[in-house]
This record gives sequence, structure tokens and C-alpha cells, in this order.
Amino acid sequence: REDEARSDALDKVLVSIRVKPINDDEEAWKPDTEEAKIMIKGQYARTTTSVNNEYRYDNVLAGSNNKLAYEATARRHVRSAMEGFNSVVFAYGQTASGKTYTLSGTDEDPGIIPRAMRDVFGYIKATPGREYLLRASYLEIYNEQIHDLLAPGIGVARVPVMLQGTGLNVTMTPLREEVVTSLKAVKEVMERGESNRRTANTDWNERSSRSHSVFRLVIESRERTAEGSTPNLPSASSSSKLHAPGANGVRMSVLSLIDLAGSEKATSDKERAKEGKYINTSLLTLGTVIGTLAENASKGKSDHVPFRNSKLTRMLQPSLSGDARISVICTLNPSPSAVSESLNTLGFASRVK
Ligand code: ADP
Ligand code: MG
Repeated sequence: REDEARSDALDKVLVSIRVKPINDDEEAWKPDTEEAKIMIKGQYARTTTSVNNEYRYDNVLAGSNNKLAYEATARRHVRSAMEGFNSVVFAYGQTASGKTYTLSGTDEDPGIIPRAMRDVFGYIKATPGREYLLRASYLEIYNEQIHDLLAPGIGVARVPVMLQGTGLNVTMTPLREEVVTSLKAVKEVMERGESNRRTANTDWNERSSRSHSVFRLVIESRERTAEGSTPNLPSASSSSKLHAPGANGVRMSVLSLIDLAGSEKATSDKERAKEGKYINTSLLTLGTVIGTLAENASKGKSDHVPFRNSKLTRMLQPSLSGDARISVICTLNPSPSAVSESLNTLGFASRVK
């Protein structure tokens, strides 16, 4: 507990490694590089090809237990968001390494997003002194274009979401934000977005690995008045403000849960090469942005943070700045054939700390 509180106070960025269980097919397909594998020990992880590159992380997790993964990597961030701090959780890794398993999970073992939502409503119930207004949005960034997964007219006719304003005042328009008052309502919003994502893209499986998907919850709250009346919360149009209490003591924060595009190198195919370029730029920028924020926070520096180099980081600037809390979960496929991508992922993980 005390340890948790201390790291709460110290760490702007929590970096975790998650190694998925080896799959029989992958095991059977073992190439001649017998020795190439991931080794984990305590908080350390490395591949056998990088003996001199043993990295230390906040968490090194193996196995399928999403409850444990949630508790280690995101629960504190959800609580911070309820307390008024912007919080962002990312899953980073090559395709098929377990990003979606970690964030969405399965019916039997839900992932971070459903667990986070359950905790959000649990927190509200346990905090009768405040009233809350929650608004959910769900979007996708593909080839540096933002698409609203909750917007009507999805498909070719859909209007891309534009970023307006700069710095901490960036807003997205048009962006649908659904007021959600129950766990069931959030689930419906998620399912609608998910189904739009599938119907809009015949090759959605392929595309889902080439795009970032962002689930966003804007949380506003204020103290209930003594008379017991509950005046309506203003439905603020800007969702990018930091948590500083605004007029009439309204506290606002944003919780963002992000399933990133696959981090693997682009293939030679032309179209993919173009996608690959966008993905590389945005993941590279993300690494630089988080790494610089972490360094600025831990060393009291104020180095330039290149938010403007990608849509994702521009969009997230208000949510990553200030005293925002960040969790990066790097997922690894332990298959020997994935070892060079795993090494890249470990490298990313150590850059952002
Ligand atoms: P990604 O989203 O990174 O492309 P997925 O989450 O879709 O990868 O995972 C690929 C496959 O591996 C899926 O069938 C998924 O159920 C399985 N998988 C991933 N991580 C785990 C894990 N920690 N435990 C059990 N199965 C996993
Ligand atoms: Mg996925």
C-alpha cells in the first residue's frame, strides 16, 4: 500500500511488459533460432539475443489473467481519473501480441476497458457527496485521419474529425460524446462503435491492426449541494480542459484507453508501406513524447515535447500534459519467430520510462 502510494506520487509514466502465453502453433513452427526467446525475471525482461540489454520495468506480467493485469497497470489510473486527473492507458506491441486481449479481454475474463468502466461506476456509488456526468466517445485514427466510430453515416460518407485549436486547447469536431449513466449504457456505446468499425471495413481485422483505437471518457463532477438538490452540470463543450476546478467547482478530467496500431515493420506492399509510414511516424512520435514527458517530470526539466508531430499526440496533448498519469503496457509475443519485434517493443518500453 505504502509502496503504491509512493510510486503514485513519483511516477508520471508506469511501464509494464505483458508476455502472452505461447501458442502451440507458434511453438511447433519454431525456426532454427533455438535460442531466441524472451526471458523474464522479476521486474526484468530481455531477449536471449540481447544479453547486454536487460531492461527493468515497473511490471513484467506473464499469463492470461486480465484481472491481475488490470490491477497492476490501470486501476490506479482509473481512480486518478475519478479524482480529477487526466489519465491515459496505452497498449503497444506488434500485431497478435495481445493488445486487444489486454484492453478488451474476453467475456470470461474482461480486459482493462470493461474493468475500468466497472470501477468508474463503483467509484461513483461510493462517492455520494459528488455528482458525476460521464460522456463516452470512441474513435479511430487511420492514416493520420480521425474517424468517429459513434457518428452516423459511417463508411465512405463519414466526415473525418478535425482537430481545432492548439496546445492544451485542442478540441475535436465533430465528435459524438454520449452521456452514459450506467455500465450497460457504456457497453452499448462500445458495441456500437465496434460494430461500426467492422461494417465500415470489410478487412476490419487487417485494418484494426493498422489503426489506433481510442476509447475516451470525459468525467465531470462537483460536490452535491447541501440542500440535496442536484443542479444540472453544465455540459461543457470543450472536453480538453485540465482538471482545475472551473466555474462552480466543476472538476473535469479525461480517461483515455488506447489500443495502438501494430508496431511491426511495414511490409513491402505499396499501400501498406504508406500506412506503415504513418504508423511508424505516429508510434515514434508517441515514444518521444512520452519519454520526454517522463524525463521532464522526473528531472524537473522543460524540454520541448513534439506533440504536433502526429494526430494522436496532438489530440492527446491536453490529456498527457500537466499532472496527467500515463500507463504504457507493452505486449510481447514470446514466439522465437517474433524475437526481433519483441526486442523493438522492449526498446520502446525503455524509451518511454
Ligand atoms: P493484438 O491486439 O496485439 O493484435 P490480440 O489481443 O488479438 O493481439 O491477441 C492475439 C491472440 O492471442 C488472440 O487470439 C488472443 O486471444 C490471444 N492472446 C493474447 N494475449 C493473451 C494472453 N495474455 N492470454 C491468453 N491469450 C492471449
Ligand atoms: Mg488488436
